[in-house]
Amino acid sequence: MSEDPYTAIRDAVRRLTAGFPGEYWREKDRERAYPTEFVEALTQAGYLGMLIPEEYGGSGMGLAAACAVLEEVHRAGANGAAAHAQMYTMGAILRHGSDEQKARYLPGIASGELRMQAFGVTEPGAGTDTTRITTRARRDGDDYVVSGQKIWISRAEHSDLLLLLCRTTAREDAARPSEGMTLLLVDMREAKTAGLTIQPIRTMLNHATTALFFDDVRVPVANRLGEEGRGFKYVLDGMNAERILIAAECIGDGRFFIDRAAAYAKQREVFGRPIGANQGVQFPIARAHVQLTAASLMVDKAAALFDAGEPCGSEANMAKMLASEASWYAADQCLQTHGGFGFAEDYDIERKFRETRLYQVAPISTNLILSHVATHVLGLPKSF
Ligand SMILES: Cc1cc2nc3c(=O)[nH]c(=O)nc-3n(C[C@H](O)[C@H](O)[C@H](O)COP(=O)(O)OP(=O)(O)OC[C@H]3O[C@@H](n4cnc5c(N)ncnc54)[C@H](O)[C@@H]3O)c2cc1C
Repeated sequence: MSEDPYTAIRDAVRRLTAGFPGEYWREKDRERAYPTEFVEALTQAGYLGMLIPEEYGGSGMGLAAACAVLEEVHRAGANGAAAHAQMYTMGAILRHGSDEQKARYLPGIASGELRMQAFGVTEPGAGTDTTRITTRARRDGDDYVVSGQKIWISRAEHSDLLLLLCRTTAREDAARPSEGMTLLLVDMREAKTAGLTIQPIRTMLNHATTALFFDDVRVPVANRLGEEGRGFKYVLDGMNAERILIAAECIGDGRFFIDRAAAYAKQREVFGRPIGANQGVQFPIARAHVQLTAASLMVDKAAALFDAGEPCGSEANMAKMLASEASWYAADQCLQTHGGFGFAEDYDIERKFRETRLYQVAPISTNLILSHVATHVLGLPKSF
């Protein structure tokens, strides 16, 4: 098997995360505070602009390299979710923006001067069925006027730009349910003073997620990405990168749990010997390692296909599902191995346990991945 080409990146990320130990994350978690210093450090190191081509000030690297960064961040007990969207939401500009839009936004996103890490798709009434969104953008001269509501929009309070999916044609008037949706780039610095309300939602993990309320917010037509009515297709184009990067974070979480469980099982003595000498303790940890290793290969495969410009929708979905399930199994076994101490905040396990659980629901839930595989890969009849 070939050597890992990203050992230098991994070593550098380990040095960076060493400056952000468990106490840092525990305090942020307790306060539900944004890890600004950590995000700043990732920005300064250039990691958040690594997928942006060099001509726009990024480092023009591939998704596999970005996966290595996020995996190491998570393996160290840190959480990349505070900033990971800065890596990939710009893909909508790169793929569908005009030359003028690319020149206007990408250099600032690459340097971190401009934060573009909020992505607004989900609505309370639509759920996973994105074609049922009702946030409406009505054309008025050189502007769109946006009204409606989004939910679970993460990092909106810490982002300058929001990539917003809204309806320009009502579902019933569109040629197909997936048509009539448009992608707008909302400058939230202006919008917050002109009709946009951001309401934080407190959740079981520190994720800076929010509900957004649009009350006739004006967005220049010049901020539309691509053609009117084709936004859903553009959003789908960007989802593979998101799923693969989040799968890499799950692999990092899984390695964190397995490292911790193995280390504790070796040193904790009960009945006069290490608990790890009991097969009832070692086998679940070994199984977690087996499952995580397999999931990691799937993440590598999906990232390689993405970097080669090949179709990778099914692989991205499968990687996300396998990695999120493997990290959750590892989390459960790590907690069990630690007995009562697994519940103590000081061990960081209960925090990571809460954090990794998210990824079986967001950005897409396991059932919807299974549905994709059943109908698109295996040709089974559609159920919806
Ligand atoms: C912390 C957090 C952060 C998030 N950040 C963002 C963000 O930044 N931007 C954004 O746009 N969204 C974000 N989301 C939303 C996330 O993508 C959705 O929660 C997720 O896609 C699931 O949608 P839902 O919550 O509406 O669940 P629903 O669609 O209501 O589904 C509920 C359950 O039913 C199952 N289900 C639904 N339909 C079917 C079916 N036909 N067959 C079988 N099972 C089905 C689902 O699998 C799920 O388990 C975030 C969510 C959370 C919790």
